[in-house]
Amino acid sequence: MRIEVIVPHGFCGGVERALKMAYAALDEFPPPVYCLHEIVHNERVVGDLAARGMRFVSSVDDVPDAAVMLISAHGAAPAISAVAQSRHIRVVDATCPFVVAAHGSIRANFARGRRTAVVGDPNHAEVLGYLGEPGACLPEEVRPGEEVGRVVQTTLDSTVHGGVCTATADRQQAVRAFVQTRQRDGTVGVLVVGGGKSANTGRLVETAAHEGGKAWRVASAADVGAIDFSGIDVLGVTSGASTPENILEEVLRSIPS
Ligand code: SF4
Repeated sequence: MRIEVIVPHGFCGGVERALKMAYAALDEFPPPVYCLHEIVHNERVVGDLAARGMRFVSSVDDVPDAAVMLISAHGAAPAISAVAQSRHIRVVDATCPFVVAAHGSIRANFARGRRTAVVGDPNHAEVLGYLGEPGACLPEEVRPGEEVGRVVQTTLDSTVHGGVCTATADRQQAVRAFVQTRQRDGTVGVLVVGGGKSANTGRLVETAAHEGGKAWRVASAADVGAIDFSGIDVLGVTSGASTPENILEEVLRSIPS
């Protein structure tokens, strides 16, 4: 079995930026520094930050007055910033610029008298943030004949939805191209490294399978032993936007040759 690492993979610009801001906040302020939701959907990254004094909470109500609170790359609803301000919580805003732009477009639509349909997982932090904007609604709430704007969760399938972020689109395209081109050399498998809750990791698995490759998702090297690689001629290895490179390297070392 030939093993190849698919490029690009791993941390996107938004995640790198959010992590830099998280570590800088931990250097600057005494612990605990609060973080609204998991900063990225990766257990090891979250565990390391927790060990250094970051406390992950699911609601601003769990953050004490005048504490320091980081908003993750997924962003947050505007009401959260308003609550934080009223309670003198110092906000470190690590919202990814792609997500900031989508919030801006919902507000711009609202200013023009239009609602915006938000396409994505309504339980995901990013989508919940959009739905907190004025005029945002779920696609099923759009009335017949109503003209609405449209915002898409940044990590959906880029072939189905315009508007996903370029990092997501580029990683999906790399997997697609890998499966298509390597099929000339035999049976193709794709191993995607990423946390169980990472939406973009799940999309990469779907993309590989959709192109006809055999696809698996592993959170770490510990999961590799359960995979049966028999019959695979070429194995591509990639990782989600929230997966540190050292986890991908550990996975690579654990693949039976
Ligand atoms: S996946 Fe895209 S939108 Fe999400 S943090 Fe990365 S660059 Fe930003």
